[in-house]
Amino acid sequence: MKRIFVYRDEIFHNQDPIFYILSYIKQHSNIKFTTELFDLSLSNIINVENSYLFFSIRTINEYILFEDIIYYLRQKFKTLNLKIVLGGVTIRFLDYKQILEYYPEVSHIVVGSGEEITIKILSEDVSEGVHEITKGIIKNYTLDLEYYDYIDTPLLYFDNNRCINSCKFCERYNIILHKRNSVEQIFNEIEKMYIKKYRVFYIFDNILNQRKFVRLLEYCLRAKMYNVRFIITGGYCGIDYEKIYKPIAKEWKKATRNDMPIHTIAVGLEIYSQDALNLYGKKITTEQIDNTLKVFNELNINYLFYILHGLPGVSEKSFFEHKRWIEENSKNINSVKVNYFQLSSLTYIYKHLDQFKIRLLGKKKISEMMNKKPRNDIDTEFYYYELFDEESNKYLTMDELIKKYDQINYYCHLKEKKRGQSFKKMPFKWKRLCKSSKS
Ligand code: SF4
Repeated sequence: MKRIFVYRDEIFHNQDPIFYILSYIKQHSNIKFTTELFDLSLSNIINVENSYLFFSIRTINEYILFEDIIYYLRQKFKTLNLKIVLGGVTIRFLDYKQILEYYPEVSHIVVGSGEEITIKILSEDVSEGVHEITKGIIKNYTLDLEYYDYIDTPLLYFDNNRCINSCKFCERYNIILHKRNSVEQIFNEIEKMYIKKYRVFYIFDNILNQRKFVRLLEYCLRAKMYNVRFIITGGYCGIDYEKIYKPIAKEWKKATRNDMPIHTIAVGLEIYSQDALNLYGKKITTEQIDNTLKVFNELNINYLFYILHGLPGVSEKSFFEHKRWIEENSKNINSVKVNYFQLSSLTYIYKHLDQFKIRLLGKKKISEMMNKKPRNDIDTEFYYYELFDEESNKYLTMDELIKKYDQINYYCHLKEKKRGQSFKKMPFKWKRLCKSSKS
């Protein structure tokens, strides 16, 4: 019997992805193991053969936490028999070879989807070191009942094989994730969680198949699960929301007197300029953006638009077109989140610096992306750079660029503030938000 140790902290760093991986191992292998939770006191960690510590780095702060865990392990044990397996979405942006140099205790680093490779690691079927998963099939699976009480955000997947688009500023199109899950499978999972008092579900999909989502809503309606709420990432302007959503919106309202149970649907718009959208290969039109905005408002769907500022190659015409659209629509937009373009070596743009008129200034260290100081600073896959600005006819640094975008951000920040206020009504902790004993 193997023992797998998983970090658990009631406040911030719950290791939800690990519980999904462990569910997969249970459902698709004969490996026998126990799951044991630990915190920074390390009181129940047993340093013996056949034991593993799994840790997922999803944020830079979790890198710091990982360092702390290793330091405390060093203090507690002279040598480690326990194997340490590291993964998580953020790991691909960190120099994992440097992580291994500073932390030789780490036996395996998994970059990419960890389901299949983890079975091999536990079967001792692969060597120690870095495993980058670039292809492969992941079988369907659901969260195992054993872990229902440990997760904060129940994740549901429809068609998350990979994003079918390949926007030039994005690195996500390289990632291969789940195989398809049918609506029935997803609904079965919701039903089981509903009994366990989960009410809010997070649907993660690169490009959400909205027709499937509508069928899922129909299932919920028939089952009278009127108090479910969905938080959706993967909204896409390139679809006809009006045609797909209007019938179910009517039905839902008739049955419940409420609008559709969408807590939030997050949609990536990036920039409102057809020339710029074409330049980056974002397969949407400004007309589709306008339609999406109109339908979401009409149907009272709570949405969050993601906007990407500071992209290279944006002409003056595009910049002002985008600015005008934000100004004119700031009253209609439900909520908006502004991100700044980060140049990572995993993007198309990085491989075509001359085309986008970018000059590299050096790699960013992890310490430069956070407030806390790490114990060991490492390189990231992000770069400092300056890019050519048509208006001023010179290269601008990020700081100068941010100042230029301030004239637009004014309108966006108003929206962000508003969103923050409306979210105040919600309990802060995801766990409490997702799992309500009242209803
Ligand atoms: S920005 Fe969105 S649509 Fe474009 S490649 Fe990335 S995930 Fe896909």
